[in-house]
Amino acid sequence: MPCPDCLALEGANVSVSPHANLLLHSDAGINFGATASGHVEYYVCNACKTKWERIRARSEPEAEWRHTEKELE
Ligand SMILES: [Zn+2]
Repeated sequence: MPCPDCLALEGANVSVSPHANLLLHSDAGINFGATASGHVEYYVCNACKTKWERIRARSEPEAEWRHTEKELE
């Protein structure tokens, strides 16, 4: 079960800051076509172990926090 802080992130815009129990695991560069780029951050919740990804890119202002299936160990 997600913790209350993770539940609060469901559907939240990427401009929302990670909550206190989210630990940054890693990040990677990504491309959105020829001219747009950004990066994706992977987080793991220290309380409930939910895994999240957050896309940070000027071309994706409407992106939301998403769960990720990526292995983050
Ligand atoms: Zn959590």
